[in-house]
Amino acid sequence: MPSAKTNLTLTTPIRALPGVREEHALKLEQLGVPNVGRLLTHLPHRHEWIRAQSGLADLEVGIIGSAIGEVSATKVTGFGRKARFQAVITDETGRLDLVFFNQAFLAKKIHPGMTLRVQGKPNVYGGGLQMSNPSFSIIPTEELGGLPEDQDDEYRPVYPATEGITSEQIRAIVTRVLDTGCALIEDHLPDAYRSERAMPSLADAYRMMHAPQSEDEVKAARRRLAYDELLLLQLGVHMKRAHLRQTLTAPALERTKEINERLAARMPFVLTGAQQRVVGEISRDLALTVPMNRLVQGDVGSGKTVVALDAMLLAIAHGHQATLMAPTEILAEQHYLSIQSMLEGGSVKVELLTGSMAQADRESVRARIASGEIDLVVGTHALVSQGVVFKSLAVAVIDEQHRFGVQQRAQFRVKGAGSEAESHETPHVLVMTATPIPRTIGLTIFGDLDISTIDGMPPGRSPVTTTLVPPDRRGAVYERVRARIEMGEQAFVVVPAIDTGASNTGNALRDLRTVVADLEGGPLHGKRVAAMHGRLERSTREHIMGRFRAGLIDCLVATTVIEVGVDVPNATVMVIEEADRFGLAQLHQLRGRVGRGEKPGYCVLIGEPTTDDGIQRLRAMTETTSGFVLSERDLEIRGPGDVFGTRQSGMAPFLVADPLKDLELLQMARRDAAAWIAESPNLDRPEDTAARRRLLKSHGKWLGIGDVG
Ligand code: ADP
Ligand code: MG
Repeated sequence: MPSAKTNLTLTTPIRALPGVREEHALKLEQLGVPNVGRLLTHLPHRHEWIRAQSGLADLEVGIIGSAIGEVSATKVTGFGRKARFQAVITDETGRLDLVFFNQAFLAKKIHPGMTLRVQGKPNVYGGGLQMSNPSFSIIPTEELGGLPEDQDDEYRPVYPATEGITSEQIRAIVTRVLDTGCALIEDHLPDAYRSERAMPSLADAYRMMHAPQSEDEVKAARRRLAYDELLLLQLGVHMKRAHLRQTLTAPALERTKEINERLAARMPFVLTGAQQRVVGEISRDLALTVPMNRLVQGDVGSGKTVVALDAMLLAIAHGHQATLMAPTEILAEQHYLSIQSMLEGGSVKVELLTGSMAQADRESVRARIASGEIDLVVGTHALVSQGVVFKSLAVAVIDEQHRFGVQQRAQFRVKGAGSEAESHETPHVLVMTATPIPRTIGLTIFGDLDISTIDGMPPGRSPVTTTLVPPDRRGAVYERVRARIEMGEQAFVVVPAIDTGASNTGNALRDLRTVVADLEGGPLHGKRVAAMHGRLERSTREHIMGRFRAGLIDCLVATTVIEVGVDVPNATVMVIEEADRFGLAQLHQLRGRVGRGEKPGYCVLIGEPTTDDGIQRLRAMTETTSGFVLSERDLEIRGPGDVFGTRQSGMAPFLVADPLKDLELLQMARRDAAAWIAESPNLDRPEDTAARRRLLKSHGKWLGIGDVG
């Protein structure tokens, strides 16, 4: 008669396993573990040593141990929710107190004279050893004497337990299916491939994770499983890249000598060495019909805009169009104004496209983009990437993109002769960020992007000094602000507020007005203070920014609308209220608004952080002005998912791999994936089947490669 066990498959439901309690099966289902296959991939989050059974006298404080003893006394103390059951067990070596909180009912189960096997972590209590809430079993009299002797210490998995099922209960269920289940796991890596890299088989890796013989086995298993996660992601990223390269083309924009001279003449200053190098890297990409996909990272104020402008002008010189997209209207407006002034007197037609424009104006701009009359469109991401049809878009620049994943890059439509579905023309894409991407993350998530770095600042920058001040010393801070204003300098005060989105806006604006009123009535009495937030009309904002730039406003109290790009060299002081409410990247961006001229800059963070993260963030700000250092610190504090929006990207989180610690594995996975995809771009050879299936399952959707091949 076939037992249930021999019929076991990876899709066998947990609830169908003999001996598994209904409520445990249900709990596992709720944890996303409905069947045997998922159970095997439900990994312990750590392992711990369990000492083999010992005499009661040999138990050690703080180390999980197990022992057997006879119950010599029991009692229930306390009432109601405080009720607890206490017992004492003894053996020939000594005694141990047991306490079970909230389990007065045990008085009906455990009686003096019984023999108990207990397991737990002893602590010192009342001069002796005590275990609280140990796991225990009652040993029936007939089994006494037949107890196993020489057990070994055990290295045991600890599963993330939740209410309703303990780690031990999970372990018991895993143990039932481990051998049979693991034997069914197909390996997507061939034997030779694995042995070259000294990796265990997938079946062994899972077996060693759940039931290790030693710490080394856990290490080996972890290495294999982490490698798999990194490899599958890299295969996905490389597959997507290969696919794009095979199917899409962009106009080749060669940088002739003549064009080069014309562009150089347009530049308002001599490019720094770093800028020239990056311009060179971009130009090499643009000369090809392979669409560029390049990230330019450079700290706040490093001069990314002119680098982008150069690429856009190259497109226009070849008779195509270009677009520059910014994350906010304020920044789009500012780019528009500065580009216009740089191109003044030339023939390039520049237009602005934002959401606050009147409908009719917007329609007219769209029509002139479609006809090709407009050469360069500056706008917000949302407006330009959705549904604007270009006559011939060759270069698209996405500015200050803090959050992006491979799949999030804007989609463009180019009016072509063929139908849209057949159009394989795409622009070259340049993404710019001041939130530098630590190398590890760059390699992992942005594996399909080429990265250029502007390291170094344009000449004439002044250092910014950052201090952290508790709220009760705010008065002194604004006295200093007043002093700077009296020396002819200007200040920003940033107030945390949510600018868009309905619910908090009322409060936020009240906060902003209160701050302005307090300053005008107090430390900045007689000075010109103005408020600015994202809810103001565009014309009002432009007017305020214009006045601030012209020195007609001394102190601008603003929400984070000034976070990126605002460029007023005479502004030397920035006060950030409730600084602990901002993220590290945001604080760094904000601080970048000062120290843009010859005069030294000051950034004062007002706050009294109470969380660990908050303290670390603000401390990091006072310790360094390097965006690169800060982004590494941010990563340590928050973890990669948060920092680069991978959580939002829909990318499956790593369960085993830690891209920060597994750098070597990551590089190996990257090399291996590149080689694999070079040989089999669509992973359609028979030997690729398992890898392909796993890859599509974990990354197909968010990478948009479900239908590749
Ligand atoms: P970010 O990289 O933060 O976008 P911007 O492109 O806004 O920086 O440049 C910051 C400031 O530096 C601008 O005022 C810009 O005109 C100026 N700038 C950029 N490159 C140079 C350069 N090579 N020499 C002098 N000033 C420069
Ligand atoms: Mg910029």
